Amino acid sequence: MTEDLKTPDCIECGSRQVRHDPEFGFYKCENCSTVWSNDEDDPDYEEYDSDDCPSCGADSIHIVWDSMEESKRCEICDYMF
Ligand SMILES: [Zn+2]
Ligand SMILES: [Zn+2]
Repeated sequence: MTEDLKTPDCIECGSRQVRHDPEFGFYKCENCSTVWSNDEDDPDYEEYDSDDCPSCGADSIHIVWDSMEESKRCEICDYMF
């Protein structure tokens, strides 16, 4: 299976094992777990941890699965993602 999407090398370690997450629009290095985004207008993604709230940055322990909405929800700010 070949990658049809051209991904950049890791900005941290230079690894080519970089995965693009289309859902959140960021790149993640499979080698050193560095996450970054090419979206200049949303610098928050640079330090984005997939388990933390993308809105208020609450820790992953505050993220719950809302089965009604079928979405993850932040207990702190009620952000759905
Ligand atoms: Zn890396
Ligand atoms: Zn939140």
